[in-house]
Amino acid sequence: MRISLFFKLMGAFLVLILISALVISFTTLSSTRHAFNQFSSNNRNQWSIRLSEDLAFFYSVSDSWEGVDEFLTSVIYNDARQSGLMGRGRIDRADKDHTFQISGSMDGYNLRLVLVDNTGIVVFDSLNKIIGQTISSDEPGTTYPVSVSNDQVGTLLVSSGEIISGSPAANFLESVRRSILFSVVAGVLIAIVMGALLFNQFTSPLRQLQKAAIAVGKGDFRQRVKIQSRDEFAEVGLSFNQMAENLENAEVARQHYMADVAHELRTPLTAIQGTVEAMQDQILPLDEEQLAILHTQTTLLNRLVDDLRLLTLAETGQLKLIRSMVNPGVIVKQTVDSLKPMTTPKNISVLVQIDPEIQEWQLDSHRFIQILNNLLGNAIRYTPENGTISILLNRVDSGDMEIKIKDTGIGIPQDDLPHIFDRFYRADKSRARISGGAGLGLSIVKHLVEAHGGKITVNSPVSEYIEGQSMGTEFVLRLPAGQ
Ligand code: ADP
Repeated sequence: MRISLFFKLMGAFLVLILISALVISFTTLSSTRHAFNQFSSNNRNQWSIRLSEDLAFFYSVSDSWEGVDEFLTSVIYNDARQSGLMGRGRIDRADKDHTFQISGSMDGYNLRLVLVDNTGIVVFDSLNKIIGQTISSDEPGTTYPVSVSNDQVGTLLVSSGEIISGSPAANFLESVRRSILFSVVAGVLIAIVMGALLFNQFTSPLRQLQKAAIAVGKGDFRQRVKIQSRDEFAEVGLSFNQMAENLENAEVARQHYMADVAHELRTPLTAIQGTVEAMQDQILPLDEEQLAILHTQTTLLNRLVDDLRLLTLAETGQLKLIRSMVNPGVIVKQTVDSLKPMTTPKNISVLVQIDPEIQEWQLDSHRFIQILNNLLGNAIRYTPENGTISILLNRVDSGDMEIKIKDTGIGIPQDDLPHIFDRFYRADKSRARISGGAGLGLSIVKHLVEAHGGKITVNSPVSEYIEGQSMGTEFVLRLPAGQ
């Protein structure tokens, strides 16, 4: 069964509130009762001492305990009447045998008074039970000696029982109980309302997030959550928005990528299809020359598919390098030689300068050649006739190998420089298309360099003296000495 976070929090909160309410009411009630008992017991004690003094006075006047019933009744009754604060004692008169029964006292507790003469015989018992009997030692209560001129003439025994219901004391305790109960109920109700409001507010960002996450899960990457606070929820919300934005960008990029791939594949395919159809319709002869054109187109198509595959591997982190100790200088020279068919017709001079310190380097030679081919291929392509390309290999202070490939070509516009390593990016669309480039070369180079743990940068300055005059393009690679 699914229980929402709101109800879980509310449940936990309620349990806590009820436990605290119970603890608070129990401790308040018992401490009030304790304090009240203490207070009553002090009062009772003082009252009893005074009563024993009054009894001593009675005895000193009467010289016996005869008529003590009447005396005690009037004294207690008066006391009870005067002590308005502590309540009124109730004295019931038993008709028949003309004795008194004191069923209440001034402090609201049932009191029993027993007066014993100096021989141990009970001369007064408020419950009228043991008059005339010898007092037993286990009779409960506090004893107060009654003395006349230092002679003990009797003993007053005061014992208290249950609180009298309806007495001010009982009413007081009852009203305390009621107000505690009222405060507990009111507190719990207020806590429930406040808790509900608070938890609703707490969980609302989560609910929003949940809604948005479900929508994103279904592919709606435009979903964002509103950030209204500065707490952990806000951080989660920000991260979620960031993630949704990345997904949206990735989705847009994926769509562009698919469109670009389709577009790039279509060009050579259309050319091949056109040539084949023209041959079928005998518009073009089925000869060596046409087959050579077809071959070039299929080679281009193959290269494009290879590049796309390599790029996908690199971008998904699946590109595995096969490194070994190789001599980068030798590889550079061999690559330059292999490109002679491109440089010679344009009369481009290629200068190679290699730091003799660089003898061996941990590289994937196949990928390294690919990097050089792409960079040098571009340099040759975008350098006019009689231009120069220089290649410098150095070990820099950090210990890395630095490779600079500089040409005297047409340069790259400053606005294009930040995007030059993006896939399918061409600085001059029409120009690159004629030359057959799909805008993947530099993107592949960047990934291959980074797979080697290196970095690549580009600069393409313009002349200070002639406006718009390119000073050529320079690519700088830094490759660490891999293990
Ligand atoms: P392409 O296959 O189109 O050459 P690249 O990724 O290798 O794709 O290059 C991207 C774009 O960068 C090229 O279309 C070109 O406009 C520009 N470019 C790359 N190298 C050079 C260079 N040496 N000189 C001038 N422009 C360059």
